[in-house]
Amino acid sequence: MAKLAITINKAKCVGSEDCVEVAPAVFQMDENGKSDVINAAGAPDATIVGAARRCPVKAITVVDSETGTQLFPPPKN
Ligand code: SF4
Repeated sequence: MAKLAITINKAKCVGSEDCVEVAPAVFQMDENGKSDVINAAGAPDATIVGAARRCPVKAITVVDSETGTQLFPPPKN
């Protein structure tokens, strides 16, 4: 399992809770109704990337912090 750096763009987050639904041990809603990362290692990598993919406004970025590879959104070539 890679070490992931997960960032939420809170300005973009619309509080749909999709990410929480997919990976409740990783994401939780904060007091402002925006998603927060509570444990970047709380689910398998594929689940976390799946949660980022589910986000309707693409507010979640997932980077493999060991290699620096951006896993989601897919880097543009
Ligand atoms: S899925 Fe996206 S918009 Fe919905 S709560 Fe998570 S980060 Fe926010």
